[in-house]
Amino acid sequence: MDTHTPTQRKYNMSQIKSSNTLIELRFRKYIWKNGLRRYRLKSKILGKPDIYFPQQKLAVFIDGCFWHKCPIDFIRPKSKNDYWDRKIKNNVRRDKKINLELKKESIKVLRFWEHEIENNPEKCYRILRTTYEKHNGI
Ligand SMILES: [Zn+2]
Repeated sequence: MDTHTPTQRKYNMSQIKSSNTLIELRFRKYIWKNGLRRYRLKSKILGKPDIYFPQQKLAVFIDGCFWHKCPIDFIRPKSKNDYWDRKIKNNVRRDKKINLELKKESIKVLRFWEHEIENNPEKCYRILRTTYEKHNGI
């Protein structure tokens, strides 16, 4: 049974959204500080990657654990199950489609979970840096 009032639920959903934005911001500051620059934010290429490196053709997505159904800590909402199931399923399907389409255009895709960046930004940065350098100068 859902013990939340509608107002509380709305509040929680907005918390989920803003925490992802905050993590994204923190990660961008982190990579900037470490010298990865010349990227675009909210690029207009397919899927609107959170961070895009045009020279390396490298698209970085930071996927919210809730919205993209992280296998580690996704929590199914207690109410409006059908609504959320459908919405999240569509997101997951869309992510896969975007990966495929970008691959066709020789754009390399990196996806990080929100929790990965939160728990270990260094590791995410190392992965990003390695991929970036691999595609540098081509
Ligand atoms: Zn997660």
